Amino acid sequence: MTHTPLRIIKEQMCEVGRRIWQRGFCAGNEGNHSVRLGPDRFLCTPTGMSKGFLTPDDLVVVDGNGAGVFFSAKGRKPTSEIKVHLAIYEKRPDVQAVVHSHPPHATAFAITGVPLPGGIHPESELFLGEVPTAPYATPSTQAVAENVASVIGPQTNTVLMANHGAVCFSHELEDAYHKLEILDNYCRILLLARPLGPAQTLTPEQTQALQQLKQQFQP
Ligand SMILES: [Zn+2]
Repeated sequence: MTHTPLRIIKEQMCEVGRRIWQRGFCAGNEGNHSVRLGPDRFLCTPTGMSKGFLTPDDLVVVDGNGAGVFFSAKGRKPTSEIKVHLAIYEKRPDVQAVVHSHPPHATAFAITGVPLPGGIHPESELFLGEVPTAPYATPSTQAVAENVASVIGPQTNTVLMANHGAVCFSHELEDAYHKLEILDNYCRILLLARPLGPAQTLTPEQTQALQQLKQQFQP
């Protein structure tokens, strides 16, 4: 649960939406993000709107069923993917924010079914860790939520969604968004490196040193 005033949280939600749009992580009305406000209350982006032009009054408060009984000041309805967010919040009580998008480089891995390799880049090791891929299901269905939840472990913070996109989650919205940036940047680097030759894997000693460093970054 957050103690930040709702007005500030709404502004942060709009700012993250702008960054997602500016980075080209979503096209049209794609993508959605949310914050846990408290027991059985979540703030989420509305359906049918570009993430680049949200105002605080566009954001929607929903309950744990995603019923959207609390519409936004502008009468917007919640994102159709709210089920994914709620499944993550339910599975991981420590999660306070969820960001879902279709960042192109990460989605390239998601549509080819190529697992994200580990032990290559420090940023990915430190801030993402192991990134599982959830099986495909038709967007907006409960099956998407169930498939994403099924691959989430206690340390997971990023999931690739097969033939769809990616979802990142964290103890705060800014950090969840940063994971999305780090994910797409890592995938971009891997794709850029591919014509040059195979990526060099870190040694067990180098990986162990990163794991020790990672302890210092735990919230
Ligand atoms: Zn999506």
